[in-house]
Amino acid sequence: MNTDNIILNGIAASSGVAIGKVFVLEEDDFLIIKKEIPVSKIKQEINRLEIAMSKTKKELEKNQKELNKVLGENYAKIADAHLLILNDPMVKSEVEKMINSGVNAEYAVHEVVEKISKTFDSMNNDYFRERKNDLLDVAKKVLSNLLGKKKKTLTDLEENSIVFAKTLTPADTITMKEGMIKGFVTEIGGKTSHTALVAQSLEIPAVVGLRDITHKVKQGMSVIVDGNLGLVILEPSKETLENYKREYEKQVSNKKELEKFKDLPAITLDGREVVLGANIENPEEARSALRHGANAIGLYRSEFLFLSGKGFPSEEEHYRNYTAVAKMMMPYEVIIRTMDLGGDKIARLGLMDIGREANPFMGLRAIRFCLKYPEIFKAQLKGILRASVHGNVKIMYPMISRISEIRDANRILEQAKEELKKEGKKFKDDIEVGVMIEVPSAAIISDVIAREVDFLSIGTNDLIQYTMAVDRVNSDVAHLYSPMHPAILRLLKTIIDSAHAAGKNVGMCGEMAGDPAYTAVLLGLGLDEFSMSAVQIPKVKKIIRNISKTEAKSLVENLLKCSNMQEIDIILKKFKYKQNLF
Ligand code: PEP
Ligand code: MG
Repeated sequence: MNTDNIILNGIAASSGVAIGKVFVLEEDDFLIIKKEIPVSKIKQEINRLEIAMSKTKKELEKNQKELNKVLGENYAKIADAHLLILNDPMVKSEVEKMINSGVNAEYAVHEVVEKISKTFDSMNNDYFRERKNDLLDVAKKVLSNLLGKKKKTLTDLEENSIVFAKTLTPADTITMKEGMIKGFVTEIGGKTSHTALVAQSLEIPAVVGLRDITHKVKQGMSVIVDGNLGLVILEPSKETLENYKREYEKQVSNKKELEKFKDLPAITLDGREVVLGANIENPEEARSALRHGANAIGLYRSEFLFLSGKGFPSEEEHYRNYTAVAKMMMPYEVIIRTMDLGGDKIARLGLMDIGREANPFMGLRAIRFCLKYPEIFKAQLKGILRASVHGNVKIMYPMISRISEIRDANRILEQAKEELKKEGKKFKDDIEVGVMIEVPSAAIISDVIAREVDFLSIGTNDLIQYTMAVDRVNSDVAHLYSPMHPAILRLLKTIIDSAHAAGKNVGMCGEMAGDPAYTAVLLGLGLDEFSMSAVQIPKVKKIIRNISKTEAKSLVENLLKCSNMQEIDIILKKFKYKQNLF
């Protein structure tokens, strides 16, 4: 038996400890082995190629149809690029020529694609670089059909699995078996990366940013994930295992203790009550929100509907999903954020020309994507509008950076209302419309924006990323991601004061809202609504119920005088010590 611990240090992304067995989620790289094919079997090999190509063709045509349906003929042309490559007689005859020379079909496809890719590379031109990407995508599809998809997926999970992956996307987690997964470890990501958010909402301990980890572990290896300290311990010793079992039991009893706060109001010692809401990604999570005492859904991330691999959702699908949450949460509000698809996610939908941006976080994302493809946007708005008669539903636009985007989006909202009227479908005409403040330009003009909308919600995950030029998923710069930077504090104050001056409510739905380390600060700044991963609600509520708004306000006055984070840190520590908050 191995008695040595192998301790690896990553970024703590979701709290708690987990003990289990390694499950490595493989990437879609294929191991291509060259095999000699005797002359007598060459015909059979060519036949294999043809079957794989015709399967791929069917898949691509299905994808093209979906695009046609939702985006119209013009846009479906993008999917044509893939079909064109697949149908290119030159590529096919090159592959056949190689097979005829006595090698297997997989190897021939791989070699021919490599050769063409190199030619594209040498052209040093954006257009051909894109064509190369198309070619590689098509080749991947053909290879996967030739090899019969052997990639491990999250549906293969066994009990007590700790998932190790390069990164985990919402689409991956949709297929996850509930309860099987005990922890996440990924190579890519920071505290606010999607993996971290998913792990938090599922109450699963997670460590991210552990480079190359998927190559250091083996399937089934015994492992501990310490999501509090950001540690991954491989092959733990008996002693370490015992210590962590005790820690795990403590965690379970702490959870029970916090549950006592579930049904109590989030009110300070001097009577200031705030709303504590939950961030959710799918209707099932609304149940967990209520279980943790949420009094709102402050952020319903609607992207999951787009990432299930079934193409763009219809108005009906939107309607069904939002109605389920609206009904479950009645009478509490449900803020549905219209889709925030980033460039990387769009790539998986097959819209290749916009999916391969050099800088997807600053690219055709969120409201920008919606305004470019109003038909997709309108289907979602109509779904939300119809759901509004079943509960307290509000609309929120993401990534707003200028006033014209709000007005353009509202124009499409009006069209959606007109269409519903004509179709005789019911909706709430005066549905509230708010925006996320997550781009510095929006924060700076938040006074103007606040007059234009019904409410604001601060998205600190992106606001900090853009203000500090720190990629939120890059582990190498994660230490520079600082919610307590004086610049962020000032921006938060500007936004909250602007909203209040216009008589509007202001919430926060970035991760900062659910971090107990900042609860007093946000309360002191005057935040009306905190929305977070459901599991954080009891912890934040406990703090709110133990401090006064007056003390929190004077804490903030002192913090705003600081010129650097060290000074801020000292004041915060003193405050917490005095208040006995931790
Ligand atoms: C944010 O940016 O703070 C936010 C809540 O949105 P997301 O994390 O989905 O980008
Ligand atoms: Mg955001």
